[in-house]
Amino acid sequence: MEAWDDPLLFSDAYRRFLDSAKTERAVVAKVLAAAKAEGFLSAIEQAELKGGDRVYFENRAKNVVLAVIGKRPLHEGFRLIAAHADSPRLDLKPNPLQDEGGYILLKTQYYGGVKKYQWAGIPLALYGVVFLADGRKVDISIGDGEEDPVFSIPDLLPHLSEKIQNDRPSKETLKGEELRIVFGCSDSGALKDEILSKLKKEYGITEDDFVSAELQAVPAGRSREVGLDRNLIGAYGQDDRAGVFTAVEAIFSLGREVVPEHTALCFIVDKEEVGSAGSTGLESRYLEVIVGELLDRTGHSCNDLMLRRALWNSRALSADVTVGFDPVFKAVHDEQNAARLGRGIVLTKYFGGKGKMHSNDADAEYLNEIRRLFLREGVRFQFAVFGQVDEGGGATVSRFLANLGIRTVDAGPAVLGMHSPFELSSKDDIFQTYRGFKAFFLEVP
Ligand code: MN
Ligand code: MN
Repeated sequence: MEAWDDPLLFSDAYRRFLDSAKTERAVVAKVLAAAKAEGFLSAIEQAELKGGDRVYFENRAKNVVLAVIGKRPLHEGFRLIAAHADSPRLDLKPNPLQDEGGYILLKTQYYGGVKKYQWAGIPLALYGVVFLADGRKVDISIGDGEEDPVFSIPDLLPHLSEKIQNDRPSKETLKGEELRIVFGCSDSGALKDEILSKLKKEYGITEDDFVSAELQAVPAGRSREVGLDRNLIGAYGQDDRAGVFTAVEAIFSLGREVVPEHTALCFIVDKEEVGSAGSTGLESRYLEVIVGELLDRTGHSCNDLMLRRALWNSRALSADVTVGFDPVFKAVHDEQNAARLGRGIVLTKYFGGKGKMHSNDADAEYLNEIRRLFLREGVRFQFAVFGQVDEGGGATVSRFLANLGIRTVDAGPAVLGMHSPFELSSKDDIFQTYRGFKAFFLEVP
């Protein structure tokens, strides 16, 4: 497949990706299918690997790692881009159905850092998997098809919110337990039975099956061009599917003729929005498993020292979005150090406000390598920090990579309205991010 050279075609493809992959499972499935179509083979099924080979690893339906084997031995270091596939959303509780007042409501628990009030009054789609008592898996996808119904959390009308809601702090405008989704409505007196028999008939699901399910409510509807000049993209989940799409396209661009010097790895991770824990989050040891498997198959002895060397000699970009300057809330930014939409990929030395707590704080030597690379390749870039010093802060997966000895810096597009149901990014920034990632895989010494 030809590498991309048209920013507008690239942004159309990016939008199609966002519209068709709204959960981490969907992202992994889509990336895997695309990788197979690109000629990537299952790494585990290969006895030996050599320079130019393109392979993938899949972990528990929630991670995918794409690798293009380089010319140099792995213990000299690889080039890694990590991006996360999970986005803030509302998960259904294990026993979600509530039958009350002529409605069937779905009880939820929010996932990640959400402003809860933003999730009321909008159409929601429901995605995920349900495992039945007989072992079968049922995929659920309702709300984004042309003829599908959607779901919604109704907010309280302003006429009656005076006493009960108007004086609440904004984080409690709607409380966690109030994020209940309308799933059905009828005055028949047998509504729950009707809903359950519909679930049984159309999906084979019984009420008990919800305990072994992962169902997520996400904003329904498609991405849009934003602004009269159409320079922006508005969509749910750009944190961090912007990183996923650009990193995956960058590694795809390493064609069979262009064998990279160093092995290129694209690692799609999960659980970033809840702290990277668990066996599919970046705090797990999966990267070490992958590097061990690759050492084993590229003809080098795979012992602990070689594994540690491979990690310690490597370089990474932590692909994630960052905050763009917002003129309405200037006070949270240091304008002189704020990222601007439309000024290219953002390099962030450290996240974490206050005293840089728990931040990777990339070293100046590595920052300069990436800076010089982007200058040489004509990638539009900007250096920025995440908000004013004492204002708050964020965190990404970069510190977990750095802990393994991998030189790491955060890189990605700036967005407005991060973690909201409709995040804004700049088309050109998305394209520059792709270009920067491609240059990183090919050119970092
Ligand atoms: Mn992120
Ligand atoms: Mn996030």
